[in-house]
Amino acid sequence: MSLQPLLVFDFDGVILDGMDEYWSSSRKACLSLLQGVLLPEQTPSRFRQLRPWVHHGWEMVLIAAFLQESDGPLQRLGVDAFAADYDQQLRAGLDRFGWKPSLLQDSLERVRRQAVSGDRAGWVALHRPFKGVQERLAGLEEEGVAWSVLTTKGRDFTDELLDAFQLRPVRLDGRESGPKPEVLLRLRREWALKGFVEDRRATLEVVLETPGLEGLKCFLADWGYLRPADREGLPEGLDLLSTSKFAAPLAIWP
Ligand SMILES: [Mg+2]
Repeated sequence: MSLQPLLVFDFDGVILDGMDEYWSSSRKACLSLLQGVLLPEQTPSRFRQLRPWVHHGWEMVLIAAFLQESDGPLQRLGVDAFAADYDQQLRAGLDRFGWKPSLLQDSLERVRRQAVSGDRAGWVALHRPFKGVQERLAGLEEEGVAWSVLTTKGRDFTDELLDAFQLRPVRLDGRESGPKPEVLLRLRREWALKGFVEDRRATLEVVLETPGLEGLKCFLADWGYLRPADREGLPEGLDLLSTSKFAAPLAIWP
């Protein structure tokens, strides 16, 4: 029995741009944990600049907490030096505020649930599909290739957004499904995987080194939330996917 071809897509930064929602929800989650602090309603530029380093949603709540400090490491170091030491700064921040990732993730998802139930249209409006993505995904179906979503975002929220933008993947794996390399290994048993499109280079590098995922084509989405140096010196097996290549038939992708 031959397996059906499947192309797997990350969600945030590949299919949808939700920067203003990331900030809105992270800000509210942070304010629910730190009483009496001030954070702007407009998405701060330093939040945008740090978004390419984010792996899990809870990190954005911690970034909001860093932003309200008047003399914290983000203020003292500046964005570039802070980002260069990102993982260590996250650990130090969790210690300083006395928080665990699960507390931050729960707060973020509670705020999101309130937003969805209180004003679903307003919440959806904080997101927009990247240009041409909806059409391209529809085109894949015409090429006989199914597509799915693999994200660290909660499944319910991703499903709400897919539905709101009339996007219908054959399957959806959210953060509840486990780490991305493990999900890809499971998918590989059931589908002929044509590739994985993602905008977080570090994730793709882990995928490339995962036993059992050899030869899986990894594509770095050029239009997503990339760090300044992400496009340079890509390892073998990892290709930059420009918007023009993305628009072309899958057979002539890098
Ligand atoms: Mg992403």
